[in-house]
Amino acid sequence: TTAPAPPPVLSERRKTRRLHVGEVGIGSDFPISVQSMTTTPTADVNATLQQIAELTAAGCDIVRVACPSADDAEALPAIAKKSQIPVIADIHFQPKYVFAAIEAGCAAVRVNPGNIRKFDDQVKEIAQAAKDHGTPIRIGVNAGSLDKRLMDKHGKATPEALAESAMWEASLFAEHDFHDVKISVKHNDPVVMVRAYEILAAQCDYPLHLGVTEAGPAFQGTIKSAVAFGALLRQGIGDTIRVSLSAPPVEEVKVGIQILQSLNLRPRKLEIVSCPSCGRAQVDVYTLAEQVTAALEGMEIPLRVAVMGCVVNGPGEAREADLGVASGNGKGQIFVKGEVVKTVPEHAIVETLIEEAMRIAGDTASE
Ligand code: SF4
Repeated sequence: TTAPAPPPVLSERRKTRRLHVGEVGIGSDFPISVQSMTTTPTADVNATLQQIAELTAAGCDIVRVACPSADDAEALPAIAKKSQIPVIADIHFQPKYVFAAIEAGCAAVRVNPGNIRKFDDQVKEIAQAAKDHGTPIRIGVNAGSLDKRLMDKHGKATPEALAESAMWEASLFAEHDFHDVKISVKHNDPVVMVRAYEILAAQCDYPLHLGVTEAGPAFQGTIKSAVAFGALLRQGIGDTIRVSLSAPPVEEVKVGIQILQSLNLRPRKLEIVSCPSCGRAQVDVYTLAEQVTAALEGMEIPLRVAVMGCVVNGPGEAREADLGVASGNGKGQIFVKGEVVKTVPEHAIVETLIEEAMRIAGDTASE
């Protein structure tokens, strides 16, 4: 049997160099990975590992931990060793922690050249230590902490300034024959951020880590990230992503995965096709869609479930889905792979959909 054709995507990935963060390949040869960052004090090893376990369960590929103090640096070996997913140490201000993180066995280190004084002078030693341990480096430029030299030159954190800062630091690493570099140029304004990545993408073949920094609370941050990542992914730009939300990090992972799934850049799992409802609705679509989503969340098989409020588009959409319900007259017609399998009273719709989903999952597992 031949494998089914992969679902269509909007564009080819931009060709990049490749590197590995632990087991996770980064670059155009690999799927786009999803990252998040812990919010626990890193020095609290148990709490941090607990949060990493939650992120892993949510589908996070790579996790970053902050390292602002010596206590945090001391916790890195235990965290790097026990985490189920690769751990990146996030270093600001203190170059000595870059070396500590590399020694600790972190899968990568993020440095912010803009806030490590004399960073340029230290690149040689950092490159050497990273090379000795096979540790990649993310050059993480951030609008809020842009190199003073570039602030003076550009007046503010323009797209050009962000890209120039990153390219300058990457060139210093390249001078020391170190190329295991990925780059981010984050800004809280999606327009500036998108332009910065476009400039960078045209100037280098390093893998790019996408992020809208300080994107805001969940609603605004989700939209800003989705719009900005979409604009870049449409051009094939982006190799690993982090959605930044003022919300628990598991939410960041869910949003990141959903963005990739929406563009067929990651296999879709549960997908709810539900109508917005309107004056014709004969059932409470919002509640029904929420109940079905909650009941089926976490299913490991791809499943498209249609929840439709009436018979206008209901049967058509429900037929296109793996599983669906079209409501009307206090009843729900339940469809499986295009066939009506039963009609149930409204109160039994959710439980019937769950039963049928489990049956489909069972059939898929035994195929
Ligand atoms: Fe309205 Fe029916 Fe369409 Fe839902 S399926 S939006 S209830 S017409």
